[in-house]
Amino acid sequence: MKKVIITAALTGSVPSKEKFPALPVTVDEIVEDAIKCHEAGAAVVHIHTRDKVTGKNCHDEDQFRAVKETLTLKCPDLIVQLSTGGRYEVDAHTRNSGLRCHPEMASWCPGSVGFPTGAYVNTTEFYTDQAKYMLENNIKPEIECFDTHMVQNALDFYKDGLLTGPLYFDFVMGVQRAQPATLSQLGYLLSMLPEDAEWNLAGVGNSQVSTILWALGGGGHVRVGLEDSQYLYKGVKATNAQMVERVVRIAKEIGREIATGDESRKMLGIRPRKI
Ligand code: MG
Repeated sequence: MKKVIITAALTGSVPSKEKFPALPVTVDEIVEDAIKCHEAGAAVVHIHTRDKVTGKNCHDEDQFRAVKETLTLKCPDLIVQLSTGGRYEVDAHTRNSGLRCHPEMASWCPGSVGFPTGAYVNTTEFYTDQAKYMLENNIKPEIECFDTHMVQNALDFYKDGLLTGPLYFDFVMGVQRAQPATLSQLGYLLSMLPEDAEWNLAGVGNSQVSTILWALGGGGHVRVGLEDSQYLYKGVKATNAQMVERVVRIAKEIGREIATGDESRKMLGIRPRKI
C-alpha cells in the first residue's frame, strides 16, 4: 500500500487553552508543536491562529506569515497548510489572509454547512475566487468536505479547470449536523472520487480512532490533532505529538510506511516553487 500522509491539525478554532493546556496558541507554541509533530511523523501541519487577547480563532496575517516562514526555515520538509476556515461571520478579505501568505497548501471548503453553533458560510463567489487565486499562486487546496455536496462542487471545479489533479480531499466526519462518521458515508464519498484523487479523514471527537483505522486500512491518509479531538483515551487529554505517534504505531503494525513531506509533495502533485 502507498505511504500514508499524516496531517496534524494543531489548534483549530474551537478548543480553549484553559481547558486544554497543551493546545498551542501563540506563534512560538505553534512552531514548537509543529516541529514535534513533524519529528513524530507528520508531513503536513494545518494551522489556525488565535487572537492574542481573547484566545479566539482569528485570521491574523502576521501570525500566519510568522508561522509559515519560521517553519519553512527550520523544517523545510514539512508542508505548511494555512486555514481559510472560520465558523463565524468574518469578511472575505480577512478569511483570505492565509492565502496572501502563499503557503504551499491551504484548506478550501466549497460549500456551506449549518453547525449547531451557527452557519459556516462559504458562498459560491467566495470559494470560486479562492480557487482562482490558489491556482494562480500555486497553492495546493486541501478540499475540506463536511458533506457530500462539497465533493460534487469540487468535481465540477475540476472539470472546469479551476482545480488541478490529483485532487486532495479531506473528509471531515462526525461533526454534528454535518456528515456522520460511518463506513457507509465514507463508501459513498469514495465512490464519487476520480481514480487519481487522494483523500484523508479527519474524525471529530470520539470518531477519530475509527477514521484513523478506516483511512489506514483503505489506502487513505490521516489527519489528527487537537483541532478535531482532544483526548487520547477516554478522560486522558492528548498532545498533538501523542496523536501523531499513535497513528505511526498503528500504521507500522499494518505495514503502511509514513510519507515524508517531500514524498507527500510528489503524491499530491505540489509543484516546486519558482524562486
Ligand atoms: Mg481547520
